Amino acid sequence: MKLILLGPPGAGKGTQAKMLMDRFGIPQISTGDILRAAVKEGTPMGVKAKSHMDAGGLVPDEVVVGIVRERLQKSDCVKGFILDGFPRTLPQADALNESLVELGKDLDAVVSLEVDVEALVERLTGRRTCRDCGRGYHIKFDPPAVEGKCDVCAGVLFQRDDDQEETIRRRLDVYNDQTSPLVAYYRDADVLVVIDGMQEMKVVQDQILKSLQAD
Ligand code: ADP
Ligand code: ADP
Ligand code: ZN
Repeated sequence: MKLILLGPPGAGKGTQAKMLMDRFGIPQISTGDILRAAVKEGTPMGVKAKSHMDAGGLVPDEVVVGIVRERLQKSDCVKGFILDGFPRTLPQADALNESLVELGKDLDAVVSLEVDVEALVERLTGRRTCRDCGRGYHIKFDPPAVEGKCDVCAGVLFQRDDDQEETIRRRLDVYNDQTSPLVAYYRDADVLVVIDGMQEMKVVQDQILKSLQAD
């Protein structure tokens, strides 16, 4: 299964990707996670990416395209992969097509999650993430059993620096300007599946699975 999860920040891409990863036994490739790890480690790429991420802008195409190109060549991608947060621009989508042709792979589907702006802001301001295993939570919609502590591994939950309202609004503008044209791009390529992301996580999950079986 080779999938892209498309949608604005807070649409539920990471949440759905983790469920699909367990279900299909294929890796989630989150450019956001890879970039945050590079920032934390202080690698040259992380140093380059940090200012863009802090400002809520996009990291330059050549950086993220390089990350994904390398990642797709790893052996765990043989059975498939879930791209979460990539591509985010038309040049990234074109570069991905080239990589897939080189690797002899075809996309099965691009799942677009649609969520209202105010719901996105509420989701992002309440988002928490486990420092150790990366599982996501929401203080209202998906709280952990013990406040501030991961149910799975007891790791400490943190709030991302860019999940502050001002940066969130900026990220949503960037999505509208630079990423939303990808919906039409993949519709034209006949691989787009649109899902109402306003529904409960479990319902969204069932609808994604159903749409993939129907393919
Ligand atoms: P969210 O899940 O809230 O949409 P991500 O974790 O996917 O956020 O991304 C966080 C930040 O990392 C983005 O705001 C951007 O700065 C950078 N980033 C992630 N993926 C890409 C990409 N494909 N192209 C450019 N920048 C990216
Ligand atoms: P993205 O990766 O698209 O930025 P996330 O998967 O991180 O989005 O979800 C953003 C926040 O919204 C998280 O706190 C998550 O727990 C919550 N969330 C995800 N899906 C739903 C949903 N269907 N209903 C309510 N909250 C959700
Ligand atoms: Zn954890």
